[in-house]
Amino acid sequence: MSYAFTDRLGGVSEGPWGSLNLGTSNGDDPARVEGNLQRLGDELGVERLVRMTQVHSADVVWAGDAAPDEIPVADALLTDRPGIGVLVRVADCTPVVLAAPEESLAGVVHCGREGLVNGVVAAAVRRLRDRGATSIAAWIGPRACGRCYELPVDLADAVAAVVPQSRSTTSWGTAAIDVGAGVVSQLEALGVDVTDLGADECTIEHDRWFSYRRQGQDSGRFGAVAVIAP
Ligand SMILES: [Zn+2]
Repeated sequence: MSYAFTDRLGGVSEGPWGSLNLGTSNGDDPARVEGNLQRLGDELGVERLVRMTQVHSADVVWAGDAAPDEIPVADALLTDRPGIGVLVRVADCTPVVLAAPEESLAGVVHCGREGLVNGVVAAAVRRLRDRGATSIAAWIGPRACGRCYELPVDLADAVAAVVPQSRSTTSWGTAAIDVGAGVVSQLEALGVDVTDLGADECTIEHDRWFSYRRQGQDSGRFGAVAVIAP
C-alpha cells in the first residue's frame, strides 16, 4: 500500500488554481484539471485514478463497484484492487488515508465539520472491518487548524457536543473547531493507529495548500491518494 498527499505544485493550472488543482467544480479549465489528474496518476503509476463527488455525507463507496468512467457520490472511497488509486480532494477539510496492509485494503476520506458530526471516518473504518480488515492505520493531512477555523458559537457548540475533542478557540479568541483533533479522537476510539502529518500544515495559514477560506469560492483543491501495490 502506498499513499500520497499533493500540494499546489507541479500542475498546469493558473491563477487561484495554480498549479496542481485537482478540483473540477471551482471554475478552472476542465482540460487543465484533467491534465493535472493525469500527471498525478502517471506519477503514482496507477492504472486508474478514481475520484468521488464529495457532498459532506457519511456515504462510503468501494471504487471497484463503480463503472470505469463513473464518479461516485460519496465522502469515503475504498479499494481492494491493486493499481486503482482512490482520490480525495480538499481545501481546508481534513483528508484521511486509511490502510489495512495485511488484507490489502485502503481508502481515502473527506471530513469537514459535517463529516465530523455524521461520522464519515468511522463509517469508512467499519466498512474496511466488514471486509476483513484487522489492523488499520490512518494518515491525516493538511487542513484548516483549530486556531483558524472560526465558527459561530452555536455551531461550534453543536459540533463539540458530538465530538468534544474538536472544541477549540481561534488565535483571536473566538469560537472554533479543530476538525483534525476530532478526527484523531474518532480514529483512536476505534483502535486505529493514527499518524498526523498535517498538525503543523494549516491550509489557511500556508500558501503551499489550497484554502477555501483564504482564497474563496474559486480556490483549487489538493488531494490525497491511496494505492494498493500490484
Ligand atoms: Zn491555522
